[in-house]
Amino acid sequence: MPSAWAEPLPEAAPPSGMAIYQLPTGTYQTRAAFAFRGGSFRDKRDFAATAILVRHPKGDLLIDAGFGSGLAAHVAALPRMQRTPHQPGRTVSEQLDAIGYDRSRLLGVLVTHAHWDHVSGLDQLRVPIWINVGERRYAAEGPGGKVFRIVSAGHEIHEYGLSGPPYLGFPSSFDVHGDGSVVIALAAGHTTGSVVVFVTVPSGQRYAFIGDLTWQLDGIRRRAERPLLMRKLADTDPGQVRQGLLRVIALADVLQIVPAHDVNAYDGIPRLPARLTSAPAPEAAEQPR
Ligand SMILES: [Zn+2]
Repeated sequence: MPSAWAEPLPEAAPPSGMAIYQLPTGTYQTRAAFAFRGGSFRDKRDFAATAILVRHPKGDLLIDAGFGSGLAAHVAALPRMQRTPHQPGRTVSEQLDAIGYDRSRLLGVLVTHAHWDHVSGLDQLRVPIWINVGERRYAAEGPGGKVFRIVSAGHEIHEYGLSGPPYLGFPSSFDVHGDGSVVIALAAGHTTGSVVVFVTVPSGQRYAFIGDLTWQLDGIRRRAERPLLMRKLADTDPGQVRQGLLRVIALADVLQIVPAHDVNAYDGIPRLPARLTSAPAPEAAEQPR
């Protein structure tokens, strides 16, 4: 059992106009037996494919892209054993259009990693893809990057570095806006450049969007890694995944941990409202705290 995080939390000064929303785009079915050690074969889980919109006066970001309009083709491009039943919902693009969202506010889609179920929706989102060098290489070369290579064609690539200091136990980081509100930390192992995105909102609530460090909250609660077969099939470095998982488990008391595919992990994060109030001008963000 890793000891709980006991040091002070890193500084964060999220500006008043900052907010996050969840955009569920559908689910696909996986048996718990394949998702985490000790999971039952009879226990069918709906894996979430959900994007997060992070609004910020300096520009908005999406964390992952969910399912896109080409979902059926993307699933068909997968190896046969990965093609599980899926239930598409409204895509991120459709949800943004439905509320008249101004896409010029979007800085891009920050991908936790390049697997199909995180990038499919890029097919309707003509904005830059935020990715680090390790993940870019993984996506360009490996079989796990096949759908990424399809949907990223024609996109501008915004390659960010992870040269910032250690962050909440992770060795390197990048503070996107310079105010500690959105901090990307390298958490390699599922793929070479997998990341955790730490978000702090003005209420003080903190989140860790951990991508696929574990697929379900059971991985956190039970400290259960993926079953051996799935570690071998799904992870580039299972040992690193285990380390990353232990790091986030240590944080479970101080922030909300959101494994990308657990539908319940998003509890408390609001859906997009019918209309977004316009974000405050950047100067409003610089009020003294
Ligand atoms: Zn995934």
